[in-house]
Amino acid sequence: MTSLTLLLWIAAGILLQLATYLSFVFWRHWTNYQALPEREVGQAEQPGVEVAASGFGSFRVDHKVFEDAALSICSFYLVPENGQPLPPFLPGQFLTFRLDVPTATGEREQIVRCYSLSDAPRPDCYRITIKRVPPPPGSDAPPGLSSNYFHDHISIGNLLQVRAPSGHFHIDRGDSPVVLIAGGIGITPMLSMLNWCLTHQPEREVWLFYGVRNSRELAMNSHLESLAKAHANFHLWVCMSNPIDDDVAGSDYRHAGRIDISLLRAQLPLKPYHFYLCGPARMLETLVPALEEWGVPDERIHFEAFGPASVKRRSEKAAASVVQNEKSSADIQVNFSLSGKQLPWQPSANSLLEFAEAHGVPVNSGCRTGSCGSCQTKLRTGEVSYRQPPDYDPEPGTCLPCVCTPKTSITLEL
Ligand SMILES: Cc1cc2nc3c(=O)[nH]c(=O)nc-3n(C[C@H](O)[C@H](O)[C@H](O)COP(=O)(O)OP(=O)(O)OC[C@H]3O[C@@H](n4cnc5c(N)ncnc54)[C@H](O)[C@@H]3O)c2cc1C
Repeated sequence: MTSLTLLLWIAAGILLQLATYLSFVFWRHWTNYQALPEREVGQAEQPGVEVAASGFGSFRVDHKVFEDAALSICSFYLVPENGQPLPPFLPGQFLTFRLDVPTATGEREQIVRCYSLSDAPRPDCYRITIKRVPPPPGSDAPPGLSSNYFHDHISIGNLLQVRAPSGHFHIDRGDSPVVLIAGGIGITPMLSMLNWCLTHQPEREVWLFYGVRNSRELAMNSHLESLAKAHANFHLWVCMSNPIDDDVAGSDYRHAGRIDISLLRAQLPLKPYHFYLCGPARMLETLVPALEEWGVPDERIHFEAFGPASVKRRSEKAAASVVQNEKSSADIQVNFSLSGKQLPWQPSANSLLEFAEAHGVPVNSGCRTGSCGSCQTKLRTGEVSYRQPPDYDPEPGTCLPCVCTPKTSITLEL
């Protein structure tokens, strides 16, 4: 055999190995892709569920389960009233509820709230998990309307008006290692992602950093512990910022203190993780920039806030300074056509909703995160911009004041 023939055989061997490797990688990606439902996010219909023109369908509460020692976190299992199988959703998505709640004056008020689906998709029921919200410390404000209504008034057999699963915050279909970071009740979408992932991608490396004050606030602890025992590639880190005397370091929790970037840097081997974060505004506002600073690319950081949060991403800060240079925000006028008020825009207001409220212009609002659609308002003239695409798609000619700011002078039908 000549040396040229030998070289050709070696080259052919390498090519064959490469082709086998690429086919394997393609096959892995394809099976992962297939494992997640093909539905598009924000889809309005729920096949199998009768949906009224409003987009809401009727669900019956099948059972309730308390999930924490303090009895302040309760799961509600919901089955469609007509008994049909449910379509799958994307793990991390939420449901929107329309509730008729009693007010302090004895009347009833209609409110809209969103709750994340807290389990992997299954055809027989949806599960949501709700934390009772007290008044802010030292305030005489009434306790949270919806969460307390669920805890105190919603029982087995009750009917609820529910809009189809939606939301852009859901786990990716790839096989990159994944880091889930939950603060408090922010655990709910993570449970859905985790349960789905360990069933459908059992080889995927998954980390869960779960921050609570102490063991009384831990939700579904035994479920998490049994998953960690059963899956060597699932790494559970319970972090307690204020452990009680009974909480034992090393067994009840692995880190004393809040979840911060130094903990992540110390524990995570260097890998191309996807990070998913859900928790209080303060946690997101510190951890997202810290992850960026660490060098995690924007497209690998995904987060959701359950209430208003002003997380400013690196890319937005850069874009904002360009816009600032192009047009002075003092030139922007906001005209509230129904209230007859015309005011110069103040960039210190986080959103048009905050701006309207600060000037005594009433706005109907629900989630304040662009998820429920309650604040949808007609935009008669001008343009607005969104920090990130809202979960609720506003109808053409309208905007969601809770998450947008004016790009030009505008007229809002408020
Ligand atoms: C996408 C998404 C998913 C979510 N998923 C979940 C989930 O899985 N589980 C969960 O538990 N929550 C979740 N939430 C949060 C949930 O939607 C509600 O925001 C939460 O339950 C509080 O609603 P509420 O009606 O009980 O409280 P609200 O009535 O909205 O009150 C909120 C707070 O304001 C205080 N307050 C009321 N009136 C006043 C006043 N006049 N002055 C000062 N303070 C006042 C209340 O005491 C309370 O502390 C999610 C939110 C979003 C956007």
